[in-house]
Amino acid sequence: MTDVRTILRQAAEALGDRLEAELLLAHVLGVNRAWFFAHADDELGTDATAAFGGLVRRRAEGEPVAYITGTRDFWSMTLEVGPATLIPRPETELLVELVLERLPAGGRVLDLGTGSGAIALAVAKERPDASVTAVDFSEPALVVARRNAERHGLQRVRFAASNWYSAVVDERFDVIVSNPPYIESSDAHLGQGDLRFEPSSALASGADGLDDIRRIASGASAHLVDGGWLLMEHGWNQGQAARSILERTDLMDVFTAQDLEARDRVSGARLAVR
Ligand code: GLN
Repeated sequence: MTDVRTILRQAAEALGDRLEAELLLAHVLGVNRAWFFAHADDELGTDATAAFGGLVRRRAEGEPVAYITGTRDFWSMTLEVGPATLIPRPETELLVELVLERLPAGGRVLDLGTGSGAIALAVAKERPDASVTAVDFSEPALVVARRNAERHGLQRVRFAASNWYSAVVDERFDVIVSNPPYIESSDAHLGQGDLRFEPSSALASGADGLDDIRRIASGASAHLVDGGWLLMEHGWNQGQAARSILERTDLMDVFTAQDLEARDRVSGARLAVR
């Protein structure tokens, strides 16, 4: 028998990551990480020890922690995630903040490529007055997103299968938001780390990584109300490229916002107020 403190220390050393060890043990025990403070001296039973050992091995072999536990925290919510969805990243919370700053009372939001539903559900949670539509090309991703809506009492979010704007042709929104795929299809990172396990359709987007950003940008003006905003996440080195794509549309007030690590992360623009 081993105590919680020791087994966590061993796993943190094996994985080179204390947080990951805690997330896996919390999952096995059905507790949250705060529990460890008061229970460091508790003895762990043999079943729990064996189960934890199995998860640590899977992680050591590369499987993302979020797919092993089936969850990832985003904004103030625990979301179900799985191999059909991208794992929400902390930097994507910037996109949520920018939406909340721009969404008028009772406004309509469209989340393109919602995946686990992270952005749409965070906005819906903060803004009960908003009408939120979330679309994804992937039916398996929509199944996960709908379960997340239910889990957080946000069934009023409308989900639809859609290839970007295909399911919302006649609709206009106050804010269109997207964390689209934006990695260059030849980027070596796609074959490394967690990305190996995530859906490539949610990650890669053509030779320069900008195919989907171009599609979303070119369709935006037909789906925004006057003064409405388009906001898209992109790579740290794509700010300039994203702005020039936006500048070639009917949209104006093009800008780029930086994430907490001061990297270009989101670019946006809006339809003129007539
Ligand atoms: N931010 C992710 C990464 O670089 C990519 C997500 C995306 O393509 N939307 O790992």
